[in-house]
Amino acid sequence: MKQTVYNFSAGPATLPHSVLEQAQNELLDYKGNGVSVMEISHRGAIFMDILHRAEQSLRDLLNIPNNYKVLFLQGGASTQFSMLMLNLTRGFDTVDAVISGNWSQIAAAQMGKLLPTKIHIAASNESQHFLSVPPISNWQPSHNAAFLHFASNETVHGLQYHILPSQVAEAPLISDMSSDILSREINVADFGVIYAGAQKNIGPAGATIVIIREDLLDRAHADIPDVWCYKSHSAKDGMYNTPATYSIYMAGLVFDWIKQQGGVTAMQKINAKKADLLYQTIDQSSGFYKNNIDVASRSQMNVIFHTASPKLDELFVKEASKSNLKTLKGYKLLGGMRASIYNAMPLQGVETLCQFMHEFARKNS
Ligand SMILES: *Cc1c(COP(=O)(O)O)cnc(C)c1O
Repeated sequence: MKQTVYNFSAGPATLPHSVLEQAQNELLDYKGNGVSVMEISHRGAIFMDILHRAEQSLRDLLNIPNNYKVLFLQGGASTQFSMLMLNLTRGFDTVDAVISGNWSQIAAAQMGKLLPTKIHIAASNESQHFLSVPPISNWQPSHNAAFLHFASNETVHGLQYHILPSQVAEAPLISDMSSDILSREINVADFGVIYAGAQKNIGPAGATIVIIREDLLDRAHADIPDVWCYKSHSAKDGMYNTPATYSIYMAGLVFDWIKQQGGVTAMQKINAKKADLLYQTIDQSSGFYKNNIDVASRSQMNVIFHTASPKLDELFVKEASKSNLKTLKGYKLLGGMRASIYNAMPLQGVETLCQFMHEFARKNS
């Protein structure tokens, strides 16, 4: 019997075992067509069916209203930083940005390169070293901004907005949900745009999901090339150019899997249980493990922690890996450890990690 390996990678991240098995079964011969999904035309009936079913499943899972378009683009979440600017700032001179950690900070910096639009920092917790998210009640949006951008979950710093904003600004809210989309219930109608790279909580890298309110498609600068234009992609039913076909197929399988688990509501419950277990293990370790994030801002997806020294952290990561608990090394900026426990990480994986943490603390205190 192969030993069960639990992979805590922040992204590309672990996928549901049953989804990988189904993909394996269908790899050489997709549903009796004699060819792989990777080898078929993106405009043919077979792939169009895969795409339409994936979109419908996502709509079902997130209750996406009819006046929102769903696009499966490429280029990762990073490409969206500039697509948002090109597509949504015509007639505006300012964009509001909330800085809550590494990713929202990068987003604001990159958005700011597309002159002449100014970036107004509506809130930032950088001076407090990103140990909590800037409270929504402290956000100071400007008047007449094209949109307000924030990240619902900070993958590197291990922070998350447990309660999402609604109606905080006149401008549409845009959220980078790359690392927590589909992990909990959201009200899509509160947002102008939601976007996410697939490789954390959806599927393999390559597909980037953009959920956009229809009326915002008309805010694009007139002179942008079609490949950067949401409206062009939308007008061609997602087939302006070749999409990431295999990634979309895999995303569709993951959406079906989430449905089988009971949908986003069920995922939210189990995700809370997993995160509680892990934070409890940290908090009840008599100081052996530490997570300094304000409790109300702790991410349920990316749990960061460290021991008393970088040397001991290194030993932890090494021994954990030997025990089939993989990719626990923290992000290079922060050191320590990071356990990413997205939807596809089973409760048993977190339980096994907690057991290992108890043992390791006992042996090394
Ligand atoms: C990973 C990540 C990104 C960057 O995604 P790419 O697909 O690599 O461009 C952006 N934002 C958040 C919140 C992320 O977790």
